[in-house]
Amino acid sequence: FPCEVIRNFSIVAHIDHGKSTLADRLVGLTGTIPKKAFGANQQVLDKLKVERERGITESGLTLCSMIYHSHQKYLLNLIDTPGHVDFSWEVSRSLAACQGALLLVDATQGVQAQSISVFHIARERGLKIIPVLNKIDMPVADPSRITAQLQSMFGIDPAEVLQISAKTGRGVETVLQAIIERIPPPSGSVHEPLKALLFDSQYDRYRGVISLVNVMNGVMRKGDRIASCHTGKKYEVTEVGIMHPEEVPVMHLQPGQVGYIACNMKESTEAHVGDTLHQANVPVDPMPGFQPTKAMVYAGVFPVDTNDFIKLEESIRRLTLTDRSVTIQRESSTALGQGCRLGFLGTLHMDVFRQRLEDEYDANIIITAPTVPYKVIYRDQTVIVSNPTDFPDEWGTASHVREVQEPMVKASILVPEEYLGDMMDLCFSRRADDLDHHYLDSGTSTSARVMLTCTLPLSEIVTDFFDQLKSRSSGYASFDYEDAGYKASDLVKVWMIASIKLFMTFLLNGKPVDALALVIHRSVEQKIGRTWVKKLHKVIPRQLFEVPIQAAVGRRIVARETLSAMRADVTAGLYGGHYERKLKHLENQKESKRRMKKIGNVDLPQNAFFDILSTT
Ligand code: GDP
Ligand code: MG
Repeated sequence: FPCEVIRNFSIVAHIDHGKSTLADRLVGLTGTIPKKAFGANQQVLDKLKVERERGITESGLTLCSMIYHSHQKYLLNLIDTPGHVDFSWEVSRSLAACQGALLLVDATQGVQAQSISVFHIARERGLKIIPVLNKIDMPVADPSRITAQLQSMFGIDPAEVLQISAKTGRGVETVLQAIIERIPPPSGSVHEPLKALLFDSQYDRYRGVISLVNVMNGVMRKGDRIASCHTGKKYEVTEVGIMHPEEVPVMHLQPGQVGYIACNMKESTEAHVGDTLHQANVPVDPMPGFQPTKAMVYAGVFPVDTNDFIKLEESIRRLTLTDRSVTIQRESSTALGQGCRLGFLGTLHMDVFRQRLEDEYDANIIITAPTVPYKVIYRDQTVIVSNPTDFPDEWGTASHVREVQEPMVKASILVPEEYLGDMMDLCFSRRADDLDHHYLDSGTSTSARVMLTCTLPLSEIVTDFFDQLKSRSSGYASFDYEDAGYKASDLVKVWMIASIKLFMTFLLNGKPVDALALVIHRSVEQKIGRTWVKKLHKVIPRQLFEVPIQAAVGRRIVARETLSAMRADVTAGLYGGHYERKLKHLENQKESKRRMKKIGNVDLPQNAFFDILSTT
C-alpha cells in the first residue's frame, strides 16, 4: 500500500455517543471480520464503562485496519484515542499518528465537555475534522440544533456535517466516502532512515509488550535492530503486523502505515507513549515534546488484614501491566502497616483503577483520601511532596520554606442554563477563580446550554466534586479539566505569615494516627476537623479508659471529642441467664481482637479505618 491510498484517522466522541457501534459498522461494511479481542485482560476491562471506552470497537480493539474497495483499494487505519483528558498526553500521541478525525456527536445530546478538549487537541494538530451526527433514527434527535451548536462552538460549516445512524447503518457509507475524500494521506519517505512513533502498547502474556507504532519514515521489518530515543535501549523486532482487525503478521510496515510490533520488551513500563523508535545504528531526531507520564493524584492503598500485603502488591503489579501510567511506591504506616502509594494521571484514572482493585479485593483494602502533589520551595531547592506525612513540619523544616504551590486545573462545565447558578456556587465553594461563561445555543424548544469555565485547585476536585456536580445538576452537567500548572495561592501565603500548617493530624489519646493525615485549606480546618473527629468517635470502640480524639493543625487542637470509658466486663450489661448471648458477645470480642491495632495504648480494629476512609 503506497501512502496515497492510506488514511489514518480516529473517532473523537463522548462516552455513549456511539463510537463502538460506528467502528463495528465500518468494520462490517469493509468486510473485516473480528474474531477475538486484542490483549489478555479483556474480561476485566469490559466490566467498566470508562475502560470500555479505551477500545474503539465493542470487542475492545485499539487499532483496526480495514481494506475498503471504492474506485480503488484503500487501507483505512482507525486508531483509538482515549476520550478523556486525564490521558491528554496519550490523546495527543494517538492523534499524532492520524491525519483526520471523526467528531462523533449524539444528535439527541449534543456536544459534551469531554469531547471539546479532545477536539481542540485534534484541531491544533492540524487534523482534518469530519463532523458526524449519530443516532438520527431516534425521534428526539435534533440534528439542526446540534449542527448550529457545532457551528457556534467550533466554527464548523453546516454543509460538512454528516447525519447517520450507526445502529441502523443509515449514512455510514457517506462516512467512508468522506474519510477517503476529505482526509489527506500520510506523507513519508522510504528513502529516509526508519523513524516510528510508539503511540500505544498492550501487554501479552506470551510475547511481552506489543507496541502500536506509526512508521513516519523508512521501513520497519522483522529482524530489525531498533532502539528507543527515550531510553536508548536496543531491541530486536520479532514480529511486525497490522491489526486487520486482529494481529496479522506482515513482511514490513511502510511509511504512513500503522501496525504492531513485538520486540522482546519485557516490562510495559519500557514502552513509553510518544517515544520514537529508530534503527539501532542510525539515530534520528525524536518526535518533539516527549513527556513522561506525570502522576497528579495520589492515594495510599493498604490491606485490611496486614498479612495480605504481598497478595495486594502482587495484584497491583498485575493490574499495572495493562496500565503503565500508574506509579507505585511502598508506604508504611504505624496504623495500617505495609501498603502502597499509587499515583494516577487524574481523578477518572484513579476511579477506574480503584474500581478494578476493589473488584478483586471486595472490601478488603483501605484507600486513603486522595491527595495532590504540592511543590514546596525552600531557599535552595524545590521538593514535590505527594504524601501529606512528608509535609514540612511547622516546628522544624517549615521555617526554611519560601513558598508552597499547589497544582491548578482549568475546568470546563457544560450545563443547561437553569443549573448555572448552582454550578457557580459549587465552583466558588471550591476556591474557583477566573469564572466565566458563555451560551452555546439559544435554546428554543429545550433550555439553552451554557459553558462555564474557571480555574480550580486540583485538590478541590479530587474527592467529591464530580458527585456534587452530578447531583446538583440532576445529572445534566458534564465536566472536564486540563492541567493549568502550579500556583502559589493565598492560602499558602497565609500559611507562611502565620506559620500555620495546612497539614492536619488526628490524635488518639495524644498519639498521631499517620494514615489519617490530611493537607487542607486553612478556611475549612474547623469544619473538616469536626467532621472527622465525629466520624472517628462513631467507629472507634470504647476502651477501658477515656480516650480524647483530637484534630490538630501543628500543635493547635481544632476539634475534639471524648470517647467515654466502657465498663470492664462486656457482659455486665446483660441479664444473667442469657448464657448464649453472653457467650456470643465474648466471641465477638475475641473476633475483633484478632484484627486490633494498637495506637499508643488504644486498641483499634482495622475495620474502623475502613469505615472512616470509605465514607469520605
Ligand atoms: P461508545 O461509548 O461511544 O462506544 O458508544 P456505544 O457504541 O457503546 O453506544 C452507546 C449506546 O448507544 C449503545 O446502547 C448503542 O446501541 C446506542 N447507539 C449507538 N449508535 C446508535 C444509533 O445510531 N441509534 C440509536 N438509537 N442508538 C445508538
Ligand atoms: Mg465504546
